[in-house]
Amino acid sequence: MSYDVIVIGTGPGGYVAAIKAAQLGLKVAVVEKRATFGGTCLNVGCIPSKALLHASEMFHQAGHGMDALGIEVAAPKLNLDKMMAHKDATVKSNVDGVAFLFKKNKIDSFIGTGKIVSAGKVSVTAEDGKIQEIEGKNIVIATGSDVAGIPGVKVDIDEKVIVSSTGAIALDKVPETMIVVGGGVIGLELGSVWSRLGAKVTVIEYLDKILGAMDGDVSKQFQRMLAKQGVDINLSSKVTGVEKGGKGAKVTFEPVAGGAAQTVEADVVLISTGRIPYTAGLGLEEAGVALDNRGRVEIDGHFRTNVAGIYAIGDVVKGPMLAHKAEDEGVALAEILAGQHGHVNYDVIPSVVYTQPEVASVGKTEEELKAAGVAYKVGKFPFTANGRARAMLATDGFVKILSDKTTDRVLGGHIVGFGAGEMIHEIAVLMEFGGSAEDLGRTCHAHPTMSEAVKEAALAAFFKPIHM
Ligand SMILES: Cc1cc2nc3c(=O)[nH]c(=O)nc-3n(C[C@H](O)[C@H](O)[C@H](O)COP(=O)(O)OP(=O)(O)OC[C@H]3O[C@@H](n4cnc5c(N)ncnc54)[C@H](O)[C@@H]3O)c2cc1C
Repeated sequence: MSYDVIVIGTGPGGYVAAIKAAQLGLKVAVVEKRATFGGTCLNVGCIPSKALLHASEMFHQAGHGMDALGIEVAAPKLNLDKMMAHKDATVKSNVDGVAFLFKKNKIDSFIGTGKIVSAGKVSVTAEDGKIQEIEGKNIVIATGSDVAGIPGVKVDIDEKVIVSSTGAIALDKVPETMIVVGGGVIGLELGSVWSRLGAKVTVIEYLDKILGAMDGDVSKQFQRMLAKQGVDINLSSKVTGVEKGGKGAKVTFEPVAGGAAQTVEADVVLISTGRIPYTAGLGLEEAGVALDNRGRVEIDGHFRTNVAGIYAIGDVVKGPMLAHKAEDEGVALAEILAGQHGHVNYDVIPSVVYTQPEVASVGKTEEELKAAGVAYKVGKFPFTANGRARAMLATDGFVKILSDKTTDRVLGGHIVGFGAGEMIHEIAVLMEFGGSAEDLGRTCHAHPTMSEAVKEAALAAFFKPIHM
């Protein structure tokens, strides 16, 4: 059997590309080395982490958020095994869903490690060592990413005491203390989970702000909120050593600007310093597929590598390492392979931190606009002035809209607050249609909703908000 498309990797990039290509009438095969489909996202990333974020937030709410609403409940008791079982069941239902969709769309699946033998040929090595070869006109590399270490520091991740995100979603007891190396999205989300369940969490971050590329206002506000929740954050701190010992493990760090080093101990250390593209064992060198200087598969604007018939999408290529970016690339590439004109608008890719409150962002930050010399207006509206937020005791945070000073076109939106991850999409849709702050501010919003703060922030960017 020869296929129109062979997709290697079934994360959100690969499985979506496969389904879309099949929907467009192409004959598709997928190759996956895990026992289940869905990649990092469904198995050990987005989905299990969100199951734990939700459950731990409910636990925290039951213990801390009820009294002020006039609900008196006994202190909640944690059943961590059951919480983990909820997470595992969530993962199972999602990965089974992908298997169902493959069958529904008549996609053939091969379980084993895929290797590109040459353009048009992929070998699949099963766990028992059996090798089979499949042929296809087009090959899509969608092999995703893996945990990055700490540059220049040897770290032995055992997934029990020194853990990556994979171990951090599967701890068998709540650590008394946890050190999170890296104050990015994954570290702060998983640090929040264990902090809500009772761990004393300390974050050590190299940069002078958390959440790296996010808008400066957002990052400052979010840091204050995490501090209020009891998370300690050390900024501008360089980790120089992580080793087992003491209570569990020891982390040595020093100021980036130079100065005395200190060593702290914790039951568990989470290494969350980012992810790197995963290309090991794919045979790229032999096939002549070029990588860029950061180890990512190099592609052009149509996801083509330098070898005809070989394409790449998702975390293994440039751009934000996000599931929905990988999915959109999967759709666009499938359309291209089917002779259509797929494309991805990289200017409008939302990004969400699923802590409580949530942080969400789309488009440009204020820092990016300044650096690009763009004249812009800022409209900001706090949830303290929003009726629904007051009714729900969810007044932490704000909405910030950035618009072009001359044309009023919305260039970016940033939200810290309850439900930010849902609200961000009205700004994304507006931006996709090239809308202005006035358009957003004049759009009737249901009352009382948290989304009215988005409208008010847009009004603030355009002219003046009503409720401030
Ligand atoms: C803890 C955590 C939380 C996250 N939360 C979010 C979130 O909330 N939102 C979000 O947008 N993103 C999140 N991400 C990032 C998201 O998981 C990735 O951006 C996304 O999974 C990338 O999709 P992908 O298809 O490129 O690759 P992956 O999902 O990494 O899938 C690649 C697949 O390829 C397989 N593979 C690799 N090599 C081979 C080979 N040679 N042969 C066969 N199969 C192979 C792998 O086994 C894997 O299944 C999170 C990540 C982590 C770790």
